[in-house]
Amino acid sequence: MTDTQMVIFGAGIAGLTAAIALNQQGVKVRVLEKQAAASTAGAGIVIDPAAQALLGKLGVSLHNSYSANSFALAEARSKRLLARQKADLLLMHRAELHQALLAKSEHLVEYGQHWQSLEDVGDSVRWYQNGGTHTAKLAIGADGLRSIVRSRTCGRCKARFSGQVAWRGVAHNSLGIHAPIEYWHHDKTRLGLVPLTDNRLYWYFTDVNNVDIPVLSKVWRNIVPNLEAWLPGALRHELWALPSRCAGNNRIGLIGDAGQGMTPNLGKGGCQAIADGVALANAVAEYGLVPEALWRYDAARRSESNRIISMSNLVGKVATANRYVVPVRNSLMKLAATLT
Ligand SMILES: Cc1cc2nc3c(=O)[nH]c(=O)nc-3n(C[C@H](O)[C@H](O)[C@H](O)COP(=O)(O)OP(=O)(O)OC[C@H]3O[C@@H](n4cnc5c(N)ncnc54)[C@H](O)[C@@H]3O)c2cc1C
Repeated sequence: MTDTQMVIFGAGIAGLTAAIALNQQGVKVRVLEKQAAASTAGAGIVIDPAAQALLGKLGVSLHNSYSANSFALAEARSKRLLARQKADLLLMHRAELHQALLAKSEHLVEYGQHWQSLEDVGDSVRWYQNGGTHTAKLAIGADGLRSIVRSRTCGRCKARFSGQVAWRGVAHNSLGIHAPIEYWHHDKTRLGLVPLTDNRLYWYFTDVNNVDIPVLSKVWRNIVPNLEAWLPGALRHELWALPSRCAGNNRIGLIGDAGQGMTPNLGKGGCQAIADGVALANAVAEYGLVPEALWRYDAARRSESNRIISMSNLVGKVATANRYVVPVRNSLMKLAATLT
């Protein structure tokens, strides 16, 4: 394939969004994904209005989504409302968002690809794959938080453990939840309940104490009586994040979690990945297949991206505040909610 203009490593939310936007501008783009097939893993995802608008312009249909016009925060033990934020959110199963993106980009994706030795060789990039050498004008790392592309271009940008562990899953909505809500517990665990279509419920926990299933089930019994049934099949993983946005280098750029991997405390990483993909394509349309397009793209995204990384870290700290300051925090949250 000698006529590739851009190569994207990774077919997650960022890589697929960028591929759709670039393809619509006539750029010849290949997406190389290491997994053997499209991902069906994951639980739910909350899509904010900005990301909805960007996907809408690309013609990506989010028809299998649940609409919510608010997001509530509540105190776990009393179930008292701390704040209700007005919002225009779409709530989806992650696999279904993936399918919606693939409906516009599947023909660009090559699965099961293992590549090596990505190099910037001056007027192009070169890599080895399937026993041969391949080239493109620009390369993009969309390979997630543990990005190999990032480690090649910027050895100093390393993800750090946030101290939090997350559990996620999708269950039958037997609790009758109709709008997303997150509960904060003074023991530093949090529980989110997010309705999806077809009477499904996306639920997540974050925890800083690394407790096990019996302890979690006991703590949250007043809200989810049958938590024991949910937890064994859940996805459980440590939450790592970059301290700030990381640019690529010259002809190699980064999008999505590869360049801005953040804690999920605001639920914005996927939406920001969509913003990255579109901004990248816009910069390539304006400046061409040259390094300037990549640094212009990074400059356009840097401030918003860093703001959300910092806000997300802050929310994580506030939500897991020391139990002695929790009453003050809760009063401030209620006051803030009455002022907005
Ligand atoms: C608990 C939790 C809840 C969240 N909730 C939300 C939410 O509600 N809303 C929201 O907007 N965001 C949310 N996020 C964040 C969101 O999931 C991520 O920001 C988003 O998935 C990042 O997409 P990505 O495409 O950059 O990376 P990924 O989704 O990580 O995709 C990377 C892709 O690259 C592939 N890959 C990896 N290495 C290679 C390689 N060497 N070569 C080729 N391919 C490779 C992987 O297989 C994968 O397909 C949440 C995150 C967590 C952890």
